[in-house]
Amino acid sequence: MKFSSKISLLLFAAIIVSAAFPCAALYLFFKFEERFSQYIAKNVNEFVIASDLNAQLVRYDAALWKYVASDNKYWLEEAKRVKKSLQQNLNLLTDSYRNDKEAVQTLTQVKQLQEEYFEQAEHVVPPRTKPKDEQEQIKKLTKQYNERLVPMYQKVNTLVEKKEVELSKASNEVRNELRKFLQVSMVMGAVFVPLLTLLAWFIYRTTSRPINQVTDMVSYARVDDMKSIDRMNDGLRAFVAKRNPNDEIAMLARKLSEFGLAMKEMTNELSTLIMTDEKTKLFNYRYFKSQMRSEIARAKRFREPLSLIMLDVDKFKVYNDTNGHLLGDEVLKKVARLMKEECRETDIPARFGGEEFSVLLPRTDKSEAVMIAERIRKSIEDAVFVNQEAQPGGNLTASLGVATFPNDASDEESLVSSADIALYDAKHKGRNRVVHFEDVSQATATSG
Ligand code: GH3
Ligand code: MG
Ligand code: MG
Repeated sequence: MKFSSKISLLLFAAIIVSAAFPCAALYLFFKFEERFSQYIAKNVNEFVIASDLNAQLVRYDAALWKYVASDNKYWLEEAKRVKKSLQQNLNLLTDSYRNDKEAVQTLTQVKQLQEEYFEQAEHVVPPRTKPKDEQEQIKKLTKQYNERLVPMYQKVNTLVEKKEVELSKASNEVRNELRKFLQVSMVMGAVFVPLLTLLAWFIYRTTSRPINQVTDMVSYARVDDMKSIDRMNDGLRAFVAKRNPNDEIAMLARKLSEFGLAMKEMTNELSTLIMTDEKTKLFNYRYFKSQMRSEIARAKRFREPLSLIMLDVDKFKVYNDTNGHLLGDEVLKKVARLMKEECRETDIPARFGGEEFSVLLPRTDKSEAVMIAERIRKSIEDAVFVNQEAQPGGNLTASLGVATFPNDASDEESLVSSADIALYDAKHKGRNRVVHFEDVSQATATSG
């Protein structure tokens, strides 16, 4: 993963976390409110049940009396229904208060007393023998148990009430704490989210984006493609110009562009060195050979003529012997300069070796090549060289052989050897002349 992507991801995560705080607080608050209202509903139910115990007892007693008075079975059934409901309600409360020791104790006592009363009452009621006595007995019994049960029910009521008060107090406390937490979270979210967003934007602008830009510029540059190095250098320079020169990324970019420029210069120097002849500043034999290969290929592909001139200084050994090698070198330099002057922009003049030179003439046929060769010969003949009077014939001259592809040769080697044969012929015919391979005399061709 990219460094800049890592930074962005980290900041994004920080923003999410700071935004998540108020959201979590809000969620907790609503969850609590929901739970709390459930509790309240349950408690209200308990409250209703507790306060109804008394009324149910009254209904039970009334049903019993009515039954005893009327002998109507309906009232006995009604009494049983009320009894069942009373038992259920007490069980319900006992279940709700199972964690409260005091309440459990009270409720157990109430239950025991209630059951005792039900048992006694049911014992009195059926079978019906002396209705008058029963009425008296029931009245006495209900009075007696009412006196004991009513205060107990009251106790249960107080218990439920107490629980409700405690519950609402505790819930209010919790609600207040939660509200505080919610407020703090909201403030935190309101402060941190914009702050972190700003920070993220700042880091993106000052670090992530520039690092990305520099990385992009550098990654597209290739050592074997000078144009891409140029593009990198241009990009880096423009980048540095827009930034504070003291910031590390600008320094890095500047150093990189310096390296890029140095590399470009070095490569240029090297490539010049590698293809130039040191003495004459013409192309060297290595470059000549590679150009020859590609030009022959091109000439073949496009079916174009390609000519080659071979030049050899006449009686140069004599000049060296008479004037020394240093002056001889000066002659070679001057010959090279004259050749270059007579060549066209597209021609490739090279030092073939020693005092031999060559010119490759792309898209050039025999007549044009001979014309250029003649121009070169003439300019050397006309040029003034130090102590040329001492040369045989009183002048320093050169002989030139010309050959043309594809008429005189089929490849690089045969083109060079054909031009050589023509050069040999020129020497043979008396030097200081141009001979084209097509015009080589039969005698030379067979002997060469
Ligand atoms: P020809 O007309 O038949 O070409 O006669 P020539 O004397 O030029 O031929 P030859 O090949 O016998 O002599 C060439 C001379 O060129 C020999 C050599 O000393 C000289 N030579 C070759 N390279 C250099 C060089 O770099 N500097 C100098 N000063 N002389 C060189
Ligand atoms: Mg020679
Ligand atoms: Mg020579």
